[in-house]
Amino acid sequence: MVTSSFDYHAPTSVAEAAELLTRFGDSAKLLAGGHSLVPMMKSRLAEPKVLIDLGRIESMAYIREADGGLAIGAMTKYVDLETSDLVKSKAPALAQAAGMIADPLVRNMGTIGGSLAHADPAADLPAVMLALGARLITSSTGGHRTIEADDFFVDLLTTGLRPDEILSEIAIPALLPRTGTAYAKFGNKASHFAIVGVAASVTLSPDGTCEAARVGVTGAGPKATRATETEALLNGHRLLHGDQIDEDVIEAAAARAGAGVDLQEDIHASAEYRAHLTTVFAKRVIREAVSRAK
Ligand SMILES: Cc1cc2nc3c(=O)[nH]c(=O)nc-3n(C[C@H](O)[C@H](O)[C@H](O)COP(=O)(O)OP(=O)(O)OC[C@H]3O[C@@H](n4cnc5c(N)ncnc54)[C@H](O)[C@@H]3O)c2cc1C
Repeated sequence: MVTSSFDYHAPTSVAEAAELLTRFGDSAKLLAGGHSLVPMMKSRLAEPKVLIDLGRIESMAYIREADGGLAIGAMTKYVDLETSDLVKSKAPALAQAAGMIADPLVRNMGTIGGSLAHADPAADLPAVMLALGARLITSSTGGHRTIEADDFFVDLLTTGLRPDEILSEIAIPALLPRTGTAYAKFGNKASHFAIVGVAASVTLSPDGTCEAARVGVTGAGPKATRATETEALLNGHRLLHGDQIDEDVIEAAAARAGAGVDLQEDIHASAEYRAHLTTVFAKRVIREAVSRAK
């Protein structure tokens, strides 16, 4: 399949890319790793007249420590998230999830910014952003804006980005002491896209009580969603007795992980099966996060 014809621009700075995006408006599309956009262009689901390739903007690819957490450039590739010691220590669930995306070919090209801006309902990283309480920073000719992860994923393939905005940085807050994070998914056997994926972040007090829990679910519904009922059933409850994990509390909380999700049915799974997987994977990641927190 061949794309329709388009003009190609390769800016070397974010400011130049933002100026091009403002100039060409709706007729333009940003190109990052191309692993969602190019297939859409080849199948004519997207027919931009202008392509603005972010690939030459070296200043958009970085992983830095910032305020005890992380600042990640939107053009950072999955392979760099997966293998970075800084990401492994500051946001273990993010390194874990990046390593589960597709295959080496996709991980060598796909970017964190492209994944989040595309907001595929089966993408892995949106759930992790929700669990980690990430902030997404945009750039445009008008300046910068910060969008909380909770407000970013609006609907199927729809985000809080304005048409003139470039997602430029992802800020991951510092983990509090005794915090564990984890991600797990039931992936499609061919593409590895999440049929259901769950990310969790759990902070424990010294006596093992849950001080803060955030749980993000992807794949199950049209957009990544916080499992707020699960979080409420964890918060304030003792999850550790000495070294012993309280399985009953975790199981009861995980059972509500699909509660706020508009469970989808498609050729890969029924809504009922997705509900079941959401519970199973929520239990698994909460347990793993608690183990890491201690
Ligand atoms: C075979 C295959 C298997 C896959 N399996 C998985 C999987 O298991 N898990 C998973 O999560 N994903 C999977 N993907 C999707 C992959 O992760 C894509 O890379 C990702 O969805 C898009 O990232 P990209 O960098 O390729 O963006 P692109 O395809 O270049 O862009 C995607 C969209 O985001 C916009 N965009 C890109 N960057 C920005 C930015 N900085 N600011 C604003 N808008 C921007 C583009 O204009 C476009 O609309 C798979 C893809 C393929 C082809």
